[in-house]
Amino acid sequence: MDGPTRRDFAWTMVEAGLFPVVEAAPGRNPARLRMIRRKEWRPCYLALESSGELARRVGLLHSIYRECHLCPRQCGVNRLKGETGICRSTSRVKVASAHPHFGEEAPLVGRRGSGTIFFSNCNLRCEYCQNWEISHRGDGSYMSDEALGRLMAAMQDRGCHNINLVTPTHCVPNIVSALRTAITLGLRVPLVYNCGGYEPLEVLRLLDGIVDIYLPDFKYADGAMAEKYSAGARDYPEVAMAAIAEMRRQVGNLTGDEDGIALRGLMIRHLVLPDNIAGTEKFVRFVAEKLGPDTYVNLMSQYRPEHRARHYPELARRITGAEYRQAINWARKAGLTNFETQ
Ligand code: SF4
Repeated sequence: MDGPTRRDFAWTMVEAGLFPVVEAAPGRNPARLRMIRRKEWRPCYLALESSGELARRVGLLHSIYRECHLCPRQCGVNRLKGETGICRSTSRVKVASAHPHFGEEAPLVGRRGSGTIFFSNCNLRCEYCQNWEISHRGDGSYMSDEALGRLMAAMQDRGCHNINLVTPTHCVPNIVSALRTAITLGLRVPLVYNCGGYEPLEVLRLLDGIVDIYLPDFKYADGAMAEKYSAGARDYPEVAMAAIAEMRRQVGNLTGDEDGIALRGLMIRHLVLPDNIAGTEKFVRFVAEKLGPDTYVNLMSQYRPEHRARHYPELARRITGAEYRQAINWARKAGLTNFETQ
């Protein structure tokens, strides 16, 4: 093969600072997975590529850029002409970092890490964002779709168990286009769609058969909170509930291999916020009643005030032990049987 090999490409990424290694987070409780044999599993995107459907989806997704409604903000700008909406992104994909991550949920991390790709910019723009340099300021480097595909394949070559797409919503067309390149380079690990939960059904349906693992946040159960802390996204609760139900329909409950590595399914993250701003009790009831009590939920306690949180007295502190215990009690009372605590 002429030109750089994939291993060369991976090392170029290391040298460019795109492949730092993140240390493991201690003390995680393992989730329960329904087990299937690894040799009986194939990533779902291979079937769509073979049938020609993946190429068709790339075309459909790219056409959305012309009058952008990739997310519920529905800005209507022509991103192909360089116009930008709330997410401040054109149709060129920008990547902030890429690395094997050992701080994600245990079924994603395994022994060799989750192949995490952080996309620059975001459609939610939360006031307390812990990655604000990437999500708000847009730190990162532009990349062609082909280079993004090579990056995915390089992650697999490093041994990562999956490709973990962080904040993918505003660049889905580039990701699916890049996936086609990665498949030609031998990609065979699951795609993880690691999003804020603010996703339109139209786009999710175009991802049906492409994504094996959905990893959405559920941020707020009250629209007034979403409006105040996430740039006016008042419809967040109903949008996220419908989106997560669609994700569940597509991939079902969490399934993994003989070693407990996730292969397919829904994993929901919920960050407990001070003063119950996130609406944890309503959230756990929604999961138990609409998705099923055995749905995997990660109830996260690590909120810390970042970015503009200090402008809101109620957000300017970490949660207390009592607040977290209350969240766990709500989850138990709702009947959830597969939630992880940290
Ligand atoms: S993806 Fe960006 S430009 Fe498109 S609708 Fe959402 S916020 Fe607006």
